[in-house]
Formats: sequence, structure tokens, C-alpha cells
Amino acid sequence: MSIQSVNPFNNEIIRQFHEATDTDIQAALEASEEGFRHWKQVPLQERSSLMMAAAQVMEDDLEHYAHLMTLEMGKTLREARAEIEKCAACCRYYATHAEAFLKDKVLDVSQGKAFISYEPLGPVLAIMPWNFPFWQVIRFAAPNLMAGNVGILKHASSVPQVALALEEIFRKAGFPDGAFLSLLIGNKKTEKLIAHPTIRAVTLTGSERAGSSVAARAGKYIKKTVLELGGSDPFVVLEDADLDKAAEWAVKSRMINMGQSCIAAKRFIVLDKVYDDFINRFRSRMEALKIGDPQDDDMDHGPMAREDLAEGLLEQVQKSLKKGATLVTGGDRPNSNGAFFTPTILADIPKNAPAFKEELFGPVASVIRAMDEAEAIDLANSSVYGLGGSVWSRDLERGQAIARQIQSGAVYVNKMMASDPAVPFGGIKLSGYGRELSYLGMHEFLNQKTIWVQ
Ligand code: NAP
Repeated sequence: MSIQSVNPFNNEIIRQFHEATDTDIQAALEASEEGFRHWKQVPLQERSSLMMAAAQVMEDDLEHYAHLMTLEMGKTLREARAEIEKCAACCRYYATHAEAFLKDKVLDVSQGKAFISYEPLGPVLAIMPWNFPFWQVIRFAAPNLMAGNVGILKHASSVPQVALALEEIFRKAGFPDGAFLSLLIGNKKTEKLIAHPTIRAVTLTGSERAGSSVAARAGKYIKKTVLELGGSDPFVVLEDADLDKAAEWAVKSRMINMGQSCIAAKRFIVLDKVYDDFINRFRSRMEALKIGDPQDDDMDHGPMAREDLAEGLLEQVQKSLKKGATLVTGGDRPNSNGAFFTPTILADIPKNAPAFKEELFGPVASVIRAMDEAEAIDLANSSVYGLGGSVWSRDLERGQAIARQIQSGAVYVNKMMASDPAVPFGGIKLSGYGRELSYLGMHEFLNQKTIWVQ
């Protein structure tokens, strides 16, 4: 099987790669095992300097890395540059905070002295998606490398050039052999990797289907997993919200990365009193977006990441309309060679429509009417997912009270849901389990060892 880089702007093949063979995989596992033996002994200060150097490598070659993303998955260059900057900031965050996060934790015991020592587990397999192809990997790699683990990356098959660039970044920064490796393989080959004794844990960011399969396999071999899966985040607009601000952030929250973000707002739950007003403001802003060549800085958005994803989204929209949803704007694909999709708003979504039940991973907003606050909370929680969410109200106390009642891994009040190295990220329900980022993310793949001295 060959792995291809395809430009979704025009669906042309840019490059093709051979999938790694079993011999390549065996060599990577051995390098990783050996790399771990060495890397776990490297003093924290030295790890920190190398992580700072990785940030610098990314910034020094920012345009090149940003271009790779734009070519392979269609995000605008503007968004791609911001992603590289965020990755560099994440590396610096962990280079700076690792010492505090890894410090022994003294326990209150009746006799002697007891504490928790945080120790690395070993090589971690990271199975990653294409949507934020640098960020998803760095948010795993920065904390884990700082903690003394080493990483083997199996990136999405559609972003092989980015996968190789990530390995190159750590090599250029001076990380030792085996600290971070990238294997170009399709998803079937992860089965053997997960089973292999060298791999101590697995992290996956992707769909439920992939998460369930990987967790089952890892469970068979008693290996810890972190799963960052899909979402259908609610964006709750109360009658006392600043509607202009809410509409402006609604567009950003839905359209980031051409709508292909797990924490993009997907279900807009709006109180009856302001429903029509909100839709009008939302619609005019969505219709004003400029969609075109992602390399053109005048464009707000480019194509979706792949042709099949755009086709799948169209099907979900059409099924939702058949179930009774109303089309406010968009709902089609422009005539072009690329994986384009018109920014779309669907309203009056019935609960049995895909636009309510499923994740819509693209530029389609689902607006749902709630008669009162209680119904808005109930609708927000009527989802198999529980990743993020946001609440929009001028009353901050009320916003916080509602945030506590929403079933998800995070809720922001008057703020667009976004990841940040300083705050934990992860879901509940079918959005997965475990946390990335902050100190919690760093502790996921550590042996939290108790030492008691008498
Ligand atoms: P996907 O098909 O699950 O792919 C993600 C990764 O998993 C790829 O590397 C893929 O490899 C691999 N994979 C797929 N099936 C697998 C299997 N059976 N066993 C082992 N590995 C497997 O995901 P996608 O549809 O491209 O990505 C979008 C999904 O990811 C959405 O649901 C989105 O919400 C979710 N996501 C979640 C987060 C989060 O942080 N919670 C962030 C971003 C995206 P191949 O490419 O070789 O198939």
C-alpha cells in the first residue's frame, strides 16, 4: 500500500510514499527501546534545553512547516502559521513547567516519610489525526518527552510529509536517536505495534471507531490508553447574551479549520426569545466568509481536508433536511476541482437528524431552539459526546452555574472553546477519556510510584 499526499485544493497527488515494512517497524521499536534507556537518564535541564531548541527549529522554519500543512490538508496558511506558533509555545511551556509538574509529591502519613515519584513508562505509541497535524502531535510529544518517555508516531495516512517533518524537528533540535520516531503506516499495522512489548502505552486522537478498536487491542495487552475522540459541542446562547459578540464567536467557533475541529461548536442551542435575531446575525456573518485558495491570505478558509470528507458531510446535511431540518444558508458544494463546501446553517433540527445526533466534521452549524434555560441544558446534554461547550450570557454567575450542569470535559463562558497548554483537555462519554495538556496531561503516562521510607 502506498501512502499519498494529496492537495485538497485541486485533488492532485503531490507525493507518494512506501508504507514502512515489518523490518522498518522492528528497527523503529528497537531504536525506541534503546532511545528510552538513554533518554530517561538525561537530566531534566538538558531535556528542557532540547525542548526549547525544538520550539526554535519550528519558528526558524515556520513558513516551510505551515506550507506543508496547507498543501496536505487545506487549512489556510494563516491558520497553519498560527498552529506552528502554538506548537512552539507548547514546547516552551513544558520546558519551563516540567520541573514543577514532576516534583515529588509528599504525602501526609502517620509514620515516616511517604511521597509520589513520577517516573516515565517507556515508548508511547501516538496515533494522530490530520486536522491539526502539528498541534495534535506536539501536545502529546512535548509533555511526554519532558517526562522521560519516548514517542513513536503513527500519523494519519493523509499527512505523511507532516509526519516526517515532525521527526525532523526533534532530530534538528538535537534529541537523541530513538526519542521521537515517525512510522509511515496505515492503521492496520498498528495492531502489531500495540501488542509489541516495547510499546508501554497508546494515545489516540481520532474517531470513536478508531478509539474503540485501539482501546480494545491495548486492553488485551494491559496497556494504558488515552482517547481524544469526537465531539458535538453545544454553544448555548441565553436571552441575555451580547448577540453581536455571540454571533461573531459562533462563526469563529464553528468555522475554525474549515469546521474540522473536535471542539468546534457544532450545536447552537438558542433561547426562543433571541432565536430569530441570533440566526440573522449568524447568517450574515457566515455568508460574508471568503472561501478559496488557502495560500491566499485574503481568504478566510480553504477546502476541507479530503474529497471523501466533503462528500460524507453533504450526505449528513441532505439526510438532516429530509428529517425536517430547515436550510438557512449553504447546504451544497461549489463547482470546483477541490474538496470545497459552502458554509452552511441548518435550523430547527429534530433530535433524530444526523445534524443533532452525529458529529458534523465540517463547516455546518446546527441551530436548535430551546424554550427556556432548563431545556437548553437538557438539549446540550442530549448527546453521546461530551468534549467541550460554551455558554453565552451577560450574567457571569448564571453562565458558570450552567457550565457546571453541562456534561463535558470543559465549558467556557463567553469564550470560544480552545485548547491551551495550561489547561486540561479531554472528554467524557463517547468523546473519550484521559486528559492532555496542563500537569494532568503530563501525568497520564507516568508511573506515579509510592515510596515510603521508615
Ligand atoms: P480517524 O479515521 O479515526 O483517524 C485518526 C487516526 O487514527 C489516523 O492516524 C488513522 O490512521 C488512525 N486509525 C483509524 N482507524 C484505526 C484503527 N482501526 N486502528 C488504529 N488506528 C486507526 O479520524 P478522522 O475521522 O480522520 O479524524 C477526525 C476525528 O477525530 C473526528 O471525530 C474528530 O472529532 C476527532 N478528533 C478528536 C480530537 C480530540 O482531541 N478529542 C482532536 C482532533 C480530532 P489512517 O489515517 O491510516 O486511517
